[in-house]
Amino acid sequence: MTTYKVDVLVVGGGPAGATAARRLAEAGREVMLVERDLSHQKPCGGGMPSSVFKEFQLPEDISFKRVKKVSLVSPAGRRLDIELKGGELRTVDRREFDRMLRAIASERGATVLEGTLTGLQSGKTIKAVFTGRDGQYEVKAGYLIASDGVNSSVRRFLGLKPVNYVYTVTSIFDSMETDSCEFWFGSEHAPGFYSWVFPKSSGVSIGTGSSNPKTARDSLKRFLLRLNREIAMENDAVRGYKIPLWDGRLFRKKNIIFAGDSAGQVMPFSFEGIYYAMKSGEFAAQSVIEGRPALYEKLWKGRFLSRFRFMKVLQSYFFKSDAHAERLVHIFSNPEMQTLCMRLWLKKEKSRGVLISFIKQFGKFIN
Ligand SMILES: Cc1cc2nc3c(=O)[nH]c(=O)nc-3n(C[C@H](O)[C@H](O)[C@H](O)COP(=O)(O)OP(=O)(O)OC[C@H]3O[C@@H](n4cnc5c(N)ncnc54)[C@H](O)[C@@H]3O)c2cc1C
Repeated sequence: MTTYKVDVLVVGGGPAGATAARRLAEAGREVMLVERDLSHQKPCGGGMPSSVFKEFQLPEDISFKRVKKVSLVSPAGRRLDIELKGGELRTVDRREFDRMLRAIASERGATVLEGTLTGLQSGKTIKAVFTGRDGQYEVKAGYLIASDGVNSSVRRFLGLKPVNYVYTVTSIFDSMETDSCEFWFGSEHAPGFYSWVFPKSSGVSIGTGSSNPKTARDSLKRFLLRLNREIAMENDAVRGYKIPLWDGRLFRKKNIIFAGDSAGQVMPFSFEGIYYAMKSGEFAAQSVIEGRPALYEKLWKGRFLSRFRFMKVLQSYFFKSDAHAERLVHIFSNPEMQTLCMRLWLKKEKSRGVLISFIKQFGKFIN
């Protein structure tokens, strides 16, 4: 069996892993990224603020759909269209996007291989075994960044509890077009979550979430009826996948750092995960570069903890019942609320002032 020795091993080549590998390579570290399937297409809306491209200096030449507005639809059918001002949203194709991120990591000097993690031994030197198309190989490293998603094998090999999740079902419908990201609320089709219609570069992705994987497909059927659109749902085109529910717990086990979905780092309430996966990959890389793994948690908490906590409060309040979801749509009809939300969402403003104003605004409506 071939054995590779590197400074850092990154398991999983989605947004978290590819960003971590890129940053480590840029800092001159010997890094190997191993991805189970280099042509993987993650089931995902692919929605993100355009500012992500600028912040991570990503090339603009991949296909994407520009989103002109966001629509919220209440359980009773009240529709609120919010024009995107002071920022922009786009949806990308995840196969193309993830490939691009890995290509950048590779250009900067990371070794990118295909293989599935099939064995792991922790310790001062980590030993990992992968199974690839041509058989098994071993990688020895001083650090491991676990970015292998919501079903993390690294967690499993270390005997850690899996990430909590909401189960989603989604499908692409080529016959429809929209330039709006639509969020539909209602216990009938999305109890404790929301259903969505997102534009893709071709067609739309329609999906819904459920705490019960067994009833998720029925929820999607009910949502399609609710949309009142004559769309046939082909069973083989429907994909089920988990979105982590953040609980703020796991960051690291000694020299093994968890980033992105493997650490449950998806924003509560909006369930936006791509940007946060990329940032956590970046923070994980920085902490390894500085030789201070404990820095990772500090960086993450300093930047995101208040935001995640507040959004978790909103999630438990507004997803509680249809009456609460009605209230949510009403609150967002307030122009000041819309401006603050767009600054936090589309520009990813770091300033605590914007978050505090946002919290205060909500306070006015909730009390
Ligand atoms: C239906 C759905 C819609 C979503 N829509 C949006 C959206 O519109 N906007 C948004 O921001 N977020 C969205 N999300 C969330 C977003 O997809 C994730 O938060 C994001 O992909 C997390 O990135 P990651 O790199 O941590 O994990 P992932 O993107 O899941 O990447 C993990 C990688 O690890 C690899 N891997 C897994 N196991 C192994 C193994 N044993 N060995 C080697 N490699 C392995 C996988 O193949 C995968 O490439 C959505 C999620 C779902 C399920």
